[in-house]
Amino acid sequence: MNKDISLNLLAAHACLKDVLNALNRGVFGVVFITGQHGEVKGLFTDGDVRRALLNGANLEAPASQFMKKEFIFGRSASKREENIRLLSERVRHLPILDEKGCLVDFLSWAEMWRLPVMEPTLGGNELKYVSDCITSNWISSQGSYVRAFENEFANYSGSKCALTTTSGTTALHLALVALGIGAGDEVIVPDLTFGASANVVLHTGAKPVFVDVHPGHWTLDPDLLKAALTPRTKAVMPVHLYGHPCDMDPIMDFAHKHGLFVVEDCAEALGARYMGQLVGTFGDVGCFSFFSNKVITTGEGGMVTTRDQQLYEKMMLLRDHGMRKNRRYWHELAGFNYRMTNLQAAVGLAQLEQIDSFLTARRKVAEQYSRCLSGVDGITLSPEMDWAKNIYWLYSILIDEAVTGVTRDELIHLLEAEGVETRPFFYPLHSQPPFPDCDAEFPVADRLAVKGISLPSSITLNSDEIERVCGCIRKLIDNHRIMANFIS
Ligand SMILES: *Cc1c(COP(=O)(O)O)cnc(C)c1O
Repeated sequence: MNKDISLNLLAAHACLKDVLNALNRGVFGVVFITGQHGEVKGLFTDGDVRRALLNGANLEAPASQFMKKEFIFGRSASKREENIRLLSERVRHLPILDEKGCLVDFLSWAEMWRLPVMEPTLGGNELKYVSDCITSNWISSQGSYVRAFENEFANYSGSKCALTTTSGTTALHLALVALGIGAGDEVIVPDLTFGASANVVLHTGAKPVFVDVHPGHWTLDPDLLKAALTPRTKAVMPVHLYGHPCDMDPIMDFAHKHGLFVVEDCAEALGARYMGQLVGTFGDVGCFSFFSNKVITTGEGGMVTTRDQQLYEKMMLLRDHGMRKNRRYWHELAGFNYRMTNLQAAVGLAQLEQIDSFLTARRKVAEQYSRCLSGVDGITLSPEMDWAKNIYWLYSILIDEAVTGVTRDELIHLLEAEGVETRPFFYPLHSQPPFPDCDAEFPVADRLAVKGISLPSSITLNSDEIERVCGCIRKLIDNHRIMANFIS
C-alpha cells in the first residue's frame, strides 16, 4: 500500500494541538515528530496525547516534551518481511528509516491485520466448475452451467422461473422494461438505497418518486406510499436493505389496490424472509445481484425471478437483443445483451450449493455483534422486526453522536486507523444530482444516512475478530469521552 506519509509528519516545534489535528488527518493513528534534518525524533499515538493531557499538559505545550522517544523502527535497507515481523500487538506502528534516520515509510499493525467490510468465500466447487467450462470450451453464454444455475436458483428461491443477467442493475432494468415501464411513468423507490435502484428507473425514461424509510427497519415505509401516488404511478420497488425484508403485506395491498407492479430489489437479501416467505416471491419480479460482496457471487452477475411465464419469456427475449429464438436475426423488440457467461454461472452454481451454510454463518456473525455491542449507549443495533428474518448482509449500526460524543464519520476514520474497514450508509437519493427535485421531506433517510455505519460482515470472520471490532468501537467511544471532558 502506498500512503501519503507527509500527513503523518510534524516538525519538532509542533504543539499537542497540532498533533491532535495531524492524528485526525493522517492515516493509521500515528504521528512522527521530525528534527531539523528530517530525522525522526519521536512518535505519538492518540493514547500518548491522552496520557499527556491527563497528566496536566495543555494543548499549546510543545509536542517534543511528550512524544515517545524510545521506539522500535525498521530499516529501509531491510526486507519488507523482516520489518513486518517487528510489528506486534504492542508495537503497532513501525517507522521505516533510512541511514540518516529519516522516515521513508511506516508500517501499521492495523494495515497488516486489516478487516475488510466483505470478502467472498470461494471454497466450494467454484474452481472445479470453472475448470470444466475451460476444458470443455464453453465459456460464453451458452453452456450447461447457465441453465443449471437458473434451475437451481428457481428451486431455491421458490420462484417458477429464473433468468440470469449480467448484474443486479441489469436485472432491475430488464424487469422494468419487460413490464412496459417508460417515459411518462413513475416508479416509487425508497429514498435510502443503493443508487442503482433509481438509476434504472431513469434509464427506462420513467421518473423515480422517492418515499422515506421506516425508522424501525430502515426499508420502505408503507404508510407513506399513498402520499407518493399519482395517476402516473406504475410500479413500486421495495428494496430489502442490508438483508432486512420490507414490510411486504401492506406494500402488496397498496399495489393491488392501485393496480401497480411490484419489482423487488433483493440484491442484498437473498434468503431473507417476510412472515416465513422468501423475498423475491411477493412481487411481479424479484431481482438479485451476484456482485462480489453480495450473499452469493459470480464476480458480476444478477438474476430475475418471476412466477409469470409470459413475463419470463419477454425478459428472455429482451435479454438477448430482442431476437426471436425461432427466426434468426429477427428483432421482435429493441433488446439488450444482458446475458451471463457460463464461467460466471459455474461460480454461481457452486456458490448456491453453499447457501445454507453462508446464511447460518451470517446470522452467527450478527448474533455476536449484537451481543458485544448491546450494552453500548448511543448505538442502535441491526434491526430484525418480529415478522422478519434478516440475513444481515451487512451488519449495520447507528451511532448517536449526542450520546457517544463521536460522529459517524469520526468513528469511520478512527476504525480505519485500527485496520477496521467500514462503510457509511447510502446518501439519501433525493439529495443527489441525477434525480428529480421533489418537495417531499425524508427525515428518517436523512437521519440514518449520517448515523449509519456497516461493520465488517464477511462470513469468515471469527469471534476474536468480531470482538476486536467491538472492542475498538467501545474503546474509541470511551477515549472520546475522556478527551471531551478534558477539553471542555
Ligand atoms: C448491489 C445492489 C444493486 C446492483 O447490483 P449490481 O450487481 O452491482 O449491479 C442494486 N440494488 C441494491 C440495493 C444493491 O445493493
